Amino acid sequence: MEFCDKCGAMMVPVTSEDGTRVLKCRSCGHTRELKGNLRVSHKIKKSPRDKIVVVEDDSIPMPVTKATCPKCGNNEAYYWTVQTRRGDEGATEFYRCTRCKYTWREYGG
Ligand SMILES: [Zn+2]
Ligand SMILES: [Zn+2]
Repeated sequence: MEFCDKCGAMMVPVTSEDGTRVLKCRSCGHTRELKGNLRVSHKIKKSPRDKIVVVEDDSIPMPVTKATCPKCGNNEAYYWTVQTRRGDEGATEFYRCTRCKYTWREYGG
């Protein structure tokens, strides 16, 4: 049991505005730091769904080729190829419109 330094009344543990636990006098309002390991533990609730962040790295320079964007009709697009796992299939060509960033793909062959 703790008692107030000023008026001798009983002090009660309270949580102050900044989240720390202090002892506060019920009579005069005098506060004193609460010693010891009486920290309030904040349980962090993890959201069940992890956010999937898709990072598009635009820092890699890509070659530009003449291709007509099916969305906006622009005739320039970045292109890159992705080799499929099966060797008998050709590489898939990807295009991204330089204007509207629409991405589409065409199968080689
Ligand atoms: Zn007091
Ligand atoms: Zn476009």
